[in-house]
Formats: sequence, structure tokens, C-alpha cells
Amino acid sequence: MSNATDSPEFAILVVDDAPENVMLLSLILKDLGTVSAALSGREAIDKALESPPDLILLDIQMPDLDGYEVIRALKDDPRTENVPVIFVTGLSDAGDEEKGLKLGAIDYITKPYKPAVVTARVRNHLRLREYAMRLELLNGELERLATTDALTSAFNRRYFMSRLEDEFKRVRRYKHPSSLLMIDVDHFKRINDGYGHDVGDVVLVQLVKVLENALRDLDTVARIGGEEFAILLPETGTKEALVSADRLLNAVRAIRVPVAGKELSFTISIGCTQLDADCETIEDLLKVVDIALYEAKDSGRDKVVVRDTVETV
Ligand code: GH3
Ligand code: MG
Ligand code: MG
Repeated sequence: MSNATDSPEFAILVVDDAPENVMLLSLILKDLGTVSAALSGREAIDKALESPPDLILLDIQMPDLDGYEVIRALKDDPRTENVPVIFVTGLSDAGDEEKGLKLGAIDYITKPYKPAVVTARVRNHLRLREYAMRLELLNGELERLATTDALTSAFNRRYFMSRLEDEFKRVRRYKHPSSLLMIDVDHFKRINDGYGHDVGDVVLVQLVKVLENALRDLDTVARIGGEEFAILLPETGTKEALVSADRLLNAVRAIRVPVAGKELSFTISIGCTQLDADCETIEDLLKVVDIALYEAKDSGRDKVVVRDTVETV
């Protein structure tokens, strides 16, 4: 489906081995969407997988793959499992109808049919399809809002903690270490006090962009507090994590925020620790990385300090 909000142009796939049946249905449905045809079960599956339609009208009795086999294949593939299927068939037995519906068809129309009734049923199903698509979009948006920070679009603390818990379990099981970085902007209060809160906000937005650009897609950047960010580097020991941290320090040093005809620059401090099979709890891990961050601050800022979980807790 091209568009779920305005007046959507639905893609309807008609499947029947008899071309005259396909023609008739195409004619009946032409005002409800773009109708395409498949003259065999195989062709139907191929077309549906290549570009999943919004609705499939499916004949049952066909040579080679019959309609039952086609719907099974469609329901078995994540790309097509949610595409609604209506059987349009000469089989009028209650047993056939029950079988079709049990296989996941949303409707069952027997031939000969009344064109107006087919149109009405198809329209109803397309309307339901549209609601479902809208709901899916809204759910996606809701999930995004629930997991990200509104100002910077980085992940939020809640998301990060659940991501960290998953990673913690993974690391204990597979024994490959991951690393955790805790970042805090240096003298951020001065930026707010000197240039205003809005400029402070711009700095945070800019910072997240630069951090995300300097990291791999697998890494997770989250805003943990006001000007504090956490980064999870999966499958990364502290040696490599330190290389990443240095890259981040440099990338941030290069940021220039234009303000009142001048260019503002700033730095960050980073605490680094490793998640490995020896880590007891997430609380310990966060404590250790906070100690490392504190040490980076205390020893002059604009640097990374690494701490080992076992030694310090
Ligand atoms: P340090 O180098 O020790 O980290 O000093 P700092 O000034 O960065 O640290 P401090 O904790 O004293 O100040 C952090 C400031 O961040 C205080 C708070 O008002 C500000 N802040 C928190 N959230 C936001 C925000 O969303 N936007 C802006 N502009 N400021 C924020
Ligand atoms: Mg700070
Ligand atoms: Mg702080």
C-alpha cells in the first residue's frame, strides 16, 4: 500500500487459473484499487513475495499448487503473513469453507457470486486493512516516543537500561566482552550560564549527532541524564573501546557551534568499563563506570579513564 493516510491506492492481487475469471474480477474491482493477476499458484506466491499486495482474491481449484497450498505458503512467510486473503471459489461445501477460514482466509466467496456483494466485501476488508496499517504506524511512533529522548532523539534512559540488561545476559552466556562508556559534558553549566539554555540544548543535539556518526550502527547511544550520555559497544573489549573513546573525544573537540557571531567549542569526559562474564550486577557496572568518569573529571577533563569491574568493586 502506498499511503495509509490520505486516500490510499490499494494493490489487489487476483489469482485464478481461468483468465476469464481474472478478467471479470478485475473489472468488478477496478475502482477499489490497482488490480494485478496471477494465473497459477506459483505465480501468485512469487508476485506476493516480490511486492506484498493489500488483498489477495484466491481461487482454490488450480493445477499444480491449489489455493490451500498457496495460502499456507503465504502465511508461512513473514513478508506475506499479514496480507488478507479472500477465497473466491466454486467449492461451496461447508467443509471447504471451514478449511479455508481455518487456514487464515478472512472471507470465503462462492461462485457464482453477485458482483455488488463481492465489491462490498472487498471494500470492507480494505477498510479494515487501512485501519490496521494506521494502527501499525501509530504503534511504531508510540514506540519511538517511548524509547527516545525528545530533545536529541538519542535513546532514553529506560531503553538503555533494558538494552544493557539484555547485553549483560548475552555477555554472561557467550563470554564475549562488551564495553560501556559514560560521557558527561565538561563545564556544561558555563555554556548554559554564558550563552543561555537554548544554546546548551543545541550543544546537546550537536553532540549526539557527532557521537552517532563516530560510532558503528550496532552501538547504542542514550541520554541518561541532563548532559550525561551512555554508550554500549557490543562485542568490544576495553582496548578497542579506548580507541573508540579517543575518536569520540577528538570528534567532540572539532565541534563548532555558531553563537552570536562566534564559534563555541566544548569537550567531554568519558568513563569506560568492560561488561564481561565476571560482572555481578548492572548496579556494580554502573558504579564502576561512574567512578571512571569521576576520575576523568577529577584529573583534568577532556579525557577517557578506564576501570576494571573486578578490581574496583
Ligand atoms: P562538569 O564538567 O563537572 O560536568 O561540570 P558541569 O557544569 O557540566 O556539570 P553540572 O552538573 O554542574 O551542570 C550540568 C548542567 O546541565 C546543569 C543543568 O542545568 C544542565 N542541564 C541539564 N539538562 C539540560 C538540558 O536539557 N538543556 C540544557 N541546556 N541544560 C541542561
Ligand atoms: Mg558536566
Ligand atoms: Mg553531569
